[in-house]
Amino acid sequence: MYCSGCGNQLQGDEKFCPECGKSTSNEKSSPEKKEEFETLEFKSSILLGGSILSPEKLIITDTAVVYRKRNKYLIGTDESSIPFSRISSVEINRKLIDSDILIYSTGNQKIVAQDFSISSAKEIKSEIERRINR
Ligand SMILES: [Zn+2]
Repeated sequence: MYCSGCGNQLQGDEKFCPECGKSTSNEKSSPEKKEEFETLEFKSSILLGGSILSPEKLIITDTAVVYRKRNKYLIGTDESSIPFSRISSVEINRKLIDSDILIYSTGNQKIVAQDFSISSAKEIKSEIERRINR
């Protein structure tokens, strides 16, 4: 995000440009508009122990987390999803070189996404929490 007054690069959370003092409020989306999040896609880490043939995918949409993995017969994919309204917590289970992400719902549904890099896992956790707490 850049200042509309002087073009200075901004972090995005300033109320005023530190260079020229112009208010940044008119650059933010109008308040009546509900915040929408873009869809993000993460793949399990092939080089860190995930399957080469079938990286698993965790997709974070504006409304839900979708986990897509090959089933045990390697035919087609199994897919499960939990809407943010039903997610109760997200935990990272750090292993030696990568990590699993555990997503718990208020029901008995649970997603265990395995073999994601630690940096992906942290990003996934924070992106899910942003959407839950919006
Ligand atoms: Zn400025």
